[in-house]
Amino acid sequence: MTAPRSSAHSPARPAISSERLGRFARHIVLPEIGGAGQVALASAHVAIIGLGGIGSPALQYLAAAGIGRLTLVDDDTVDVSNLQRQTIFAARDVGHGKATSARRWLANFDGAIDVEIHDSRITADNAAALIGRAELVLDGTDNFATRLAVSDACVAERTPLLSAAVGRFQGQVGAFAGHLGDQPCYRCFVGDAFDAEDCDTCAEDGMLGAMAGWAGSFAAMQAVRVLLEGKAAFGDPQWGRLHVLDGMKPGMRTITIGKDPACRACGSPS
Ligand SMILES: [Zn+2]
Repeated sequence: MTAPRSSAHSPARPAISSERLGRFARHIVLPEIGGAGQVALASAHVAIIGLGGIGSPALQYLAAAGIGRLTLVDDDTVDVSNLQRQTIFAARDVGHGKATSARRWLANFDGAIDVEIHDSRITADNAAALIGRAELVLDGTDNFATRLAVSDACVAERTPLLSAAVGRFQGQVGAFAGHLGDQPCYRCFVGDAFDAEDCDTCAEDGMLGAMAGWAGSFAAMQAVRVLLEGKAAFGDPQWGRLHVLDGMKPGMRTITIGKDPACRACGSPS
């Protein structure tokens, strides 16, 4: 089932109303964001794929940042074991759909945000339609096959992708723009070997809850960088950079991913 949009998309969103200026005062006072940056965030449309350990805190920080429109995709229901790290859900949500519960959280948090939910499983067949007209996709799903399907759709739709993953005490967040001739996509990074495998779900391995919070909030921060490119000084998408978060050390290191000319999603046909 796909729920109807809660409100129509208005392409020419006006500047932030005076009643809402105070809500974003701590952004606006930052020279790196400012009023122009906040207006850009208010007119942005982000799709969050997966409302789990990464998607939950990412949704919270993107909503708090005043992103004007959000598309939320998850076909799962809330399990009691999710509450250890999936911070938008409460005990009363157990057994209910994650997308519906996320919309309820969002309505309670800020009713001014346009939200569209899809409680269908994202696959290669429907990914492009679910991503729709989002200007950025944030993928926090938990298996390679889904992440590759999302990445391929992003390349085809020319939509930038923030791909985030977490397990045990490790996380990674990378920004991809494979539709650009000189930039890699997520498939350039992982290759084709994982299309059919659910080989990295967290149920067996476990995960420190706050580790998911770190990866999810960091992904939200990188999303703000992407959305502000050309609009405010903080805008720097950092395409092809993969940040690896180590919760044991703790520390972070950054890897640069090269474009694979033979990539079947974004490489040039020979
Ligand atoms: Zn590629």
